[in-house]
Amino acid sequence: MISGKDCVKQEGKRLAALGKKCLIVTGSASAKKSGALDDVTDVLNGMGIEYSVYDKICQNPTVLSCIEAGRIASQYGAEFILGIGGGSPLDAAKAIAVIAANPTYGQTELYSLDWENKPLPIVVIGTTAGTGSEVTPVSVLTTPNGLKKSFRADSLFPTLSFGDPTYTLSMPDRFTCSTAVDAMAHAIESYFNRTANASSMLFAAGCVKMMIAPLENLAENGAEKLTFDEREEIYNASIYAGMAISITGTALPHAVGYFLSERHGIEHGTACAVFLPTFLRHNRQYMPELADRFYKEIGIGEEELIALLEKITPKCDAKVSKEEIAEIEGRWVNNGSLQKTWGEVTPEMVSAILGDLFG
Ligand code: NAP
Ligand code: FE
Repeated sequence: MISGKDCVKQEGKRLAALGKKCLIVTGSASAKKSGALDDVTDVLNGMGIEYSVYDKICQNPTVLSCIEAGRIASQYGAEFILGIGGGSPLDAAKAIAVIAANPTYGQTELYSLDWENKPLPIVVIGTTAGTGSEVTPVSVLTTPNGLKKSFRADSLFPTLSFGDPTYTLSMPDRFTCSTAVDAMAHAIESYFNRTANASSMLFAAGCVKMMIAPLENLAENGAEKLTFDEREEIYNASIYAGMAISITGTALPHAVGYFLSERHGIEHGTACAVFLPTFLRHNRQYMPELADRFYKEIGIGEEELIALLEKITPKCDAKVSKEEIAEIEGRWVNNGSLQKTWGEVTPEMVSAILGDLFG
């Protein structure tokens, strides 16, 4: 991870080692709006590296767009894939790197993880401060039946990641908030996780501690009052959280949050963070000693943390009917992230949480 203001301009020369041709993968506007695309194309032009741009990655990116872009990359002869954006283009870049190296593959082969050729090298440049996808070996895509489904392989760790907080300045306020609470969700779900270890807990608590002061300013005064240093702290904290979930994965809020994005169009960070107050109280009940240790490490108490999260999390006006809750209950059986949650988590309990919050 290469971080800091102007890091692409200063350290972009490292791309020369990856090849002479790349496919740049972006969403429709943010790569340009943030300034990241101009910075990196200047660097590529300066080194004589050819590039083509695929700019059709949408939020909650689809498997089909990644297959299309992967085949384009293969035909073009790309030697590496360069993703610019929030978590959506970065996750897409990982899948595209697999398809580019194996252009006959469809969805089944992609998710099988049994890839004949290893993925092309992956380079990512973040423009949001939240997902931590810059440092995770995970890609979350939406399948043709509308479900968010992730896959994970060590070969998906980006070869190079650039994190310049300057690129996050152009984010609309709602996304500044929703991506920040996504990072908080990663850290909290990783800390209170059956698979946590000493390293993941250090990263997770470090993220939350680093975020509290800038998030208090965000809650009090709004995104336009965040200083550059505070934006940088939020970005760096999101990377800590990415390191934490690389070790543990997520827990209940992400498991249930996917559903709100899929069926109710709620942006990812908000969709997960709305479950954090419930999750924190659940952990206080089932893991009181761990909870005491957590609040001691982060330096604020449970109700204070919950109040801060509630102030920043964008409003989520999803309405979920009783019928819908019943219809999806089967999906909470054998769910990986739910199984990592401490205490007893039954499908009926998840239904009750959904009913309380959105019924
Ligand atoms: P995103 O879906 O990448 O982007 C959200 C919106 O913000 C898009 O409209 C995007 O525009 C815009 N945007 C991004 N950066 C901007 C900037 N600097 N200025 C102006 N607009 C900007 O948001 P995200 O929350 O970062 O990513 C969410 C995705 O990441 C979800 O699919 C989630 O499942 C995934 N995720 C992955 C991991 C992992 O470990 N791999 C972890 C958590 C979440 P454009 O469309 O123009 O780009
Ligand atoms: Fe997330």
